[in-house]
Amino acid sequence: MLSLLQVLFWLTAGVIFYTFLGYPLLIGLLARYVRRPVRRAPITPRVTLLIPAYNEASVIARKLENCLTLDYPSDRLEIVVVSDGSDDETVDIVAGYADRGVRLYHKPQRQGKAAAINRVMPLVSGDIVVFSDANTMLNSGGLRALVRNFADPTVGAVAGEKRVLGGGEGLYWRYESYLKRCDSAVSSVMGAAGELFAIRRSLFEPLPPDTLLDDFVLSMQLVKAGWRVVYETEAVAREEASSSLAAEWQRRARNAAGGFQAIRRLSGVPSKRRWPAWQYYSHRVLRWAVTPFLLPMIYGLNLLLSGLSLYRPLFLAQTAFYVAALLGYGLARWGVESGPLYAVFYFCFANAAALAGFWRYITGSQPVTWAKVR
Ligand code: GDP
Ligand code: MN
Repeated sequence: MLSLLQVLFWLTAGVIFYTFLGYPLLIGLLARYVRRPVRRAPITPRVTLLIPAYNEASVIARKLENCLTLDYPSDRLEIVVVSDGSDDETVDIVAGYADRGVRLYHKPQRQGKAAAINRVMPLVSGDIVVFSDANTMLNSGGLRALVRNFADPTVGAVAGEKRVLGGGEGLYWRYESYLKRCDSAVSSVMGAAGELFAIRRSLFEPLPPDTLLDDFVLSMQLVKAGWRVVYETEAVAREEASSSLAAEWQRRARNAAGGFQAIRRLSGVPSKRRWPAWQYYSHRVLRWAVTPFLLPMIYGLNLLLSGLSLYRPLFLAQTAFYVAALLGYGLARWGVESGPLYAVFYFCFANAAALAGFWRYITGSQPVTWAKVR
C-alpha cells in the first residue's frame, strides 16, 4: 500500500518531470506535426524603434549607432529614446543625435520602465512599435525580419531572438529559444523578451505602472485576447551575460518577482484558441511558479521516505545532484563556467532565485525602479 507520503512523492516527481522533460518533448512533437504557418510578406510599414533608457551612458551611443545602421527605409523608421530620472550623460548623448532623427523624451523623475512606455506610446507614430533595450545590439536585417510577420493579420506581436553571450544564462537562453520556437510554431510564444519585440501600436494598452515584467505582460495580454505572438529567429538581439553571479542573482530574483506578479494578474489565459492555455500553464506557471517549490519539497519527502528500500537510491541520486551543483559552483568561482556541472549548478541557482523572487513579491519589496545590473 502506498502511504500518503509516497503518493505525494510520485505526484511531485510527475509534475517536475512533466515540466522539464514532458512538456519540451510534447511541444516539440506538436511543433512538427500541427504547426501553423505564418503568412509573411516583405512589407515595410512605418516603424517606431522605442528604447527605454535609464542611466545608459556607457552603451547608448553604441546602441544608437547600431539603430542607425539597420537595414530599413529611413523615411519609414522613427527612433525614440524614453528616459526618466537618468542623471548620467545619457540625455546629453541622445540629444546629440537629434540631427540624425533620434527623438528623446526625458523627464527628471524616475518612475520605472512600464510608466515610461505608457508615457511615450501616445506620442509615437509607427504602425509597428519595436521595443529594444539599450544594452542589446540588433542584426542589420532584424527589423525587416520582425515586421514581415505582420503581413499575417492574425499576428499581434513578434518576439525576436535574444542571445546571451556566455555564462549559464547563455545556456539557459538556448533551451528557452528551443521552447519559444516550438511554442510559436504551434500557436504563440508564451511571452516576449524586452530586448527585442514588436507589436501593432493599435493593440497597445497602458500597463499598470508598477508592472515589473512589461514585456511578458504586454505580449501575454495579446495572446489572451486571441492574437498570435510569433517568434522570429532572424531578428536577433545580442547581449552580454551578467557581469557576475551576484548580478545575475539580482536580475533573476527581480524577474521572478515580476513573474509572480504577472501570473497573478493575468489570472489564466482563457484564449479563444486551442493550445495557448495549456502552453501557458506548462511553460510558464509550472516552470516559474510551481517547480521552484517542488524541488526542495521532493528532497524533503525523499528524506522522510529514505527508510524504504526503493527510496534510498533515489535519495542518494538527489543528493548527488545537489553535490554536483555545489561542485559546479566551486568551479564557477575558479572561472570555469561550462560543462554539465555548471548546467546543474545554474539550474539550482535559477530555482533558488525564483524562491527569492517569491519572497520579494509577497513582501512587496521589489521596486519598479530597480538598480541596473551589468
Ligand atoms: P534587464 O534587461 O531585465 O536586466 O533590465 P535592464 O536593467 O537592462 O532594463 C531594461 C531596459 O529598460 C534598459 O534599456 C534600461 O535602461 C531600461 N530601464 C530600466 N529602468 C528604467 C526606468 O525607470 N525608466 C526608463 N525610461 N527606462 C528604464
Ligand atoms: Mn536587458
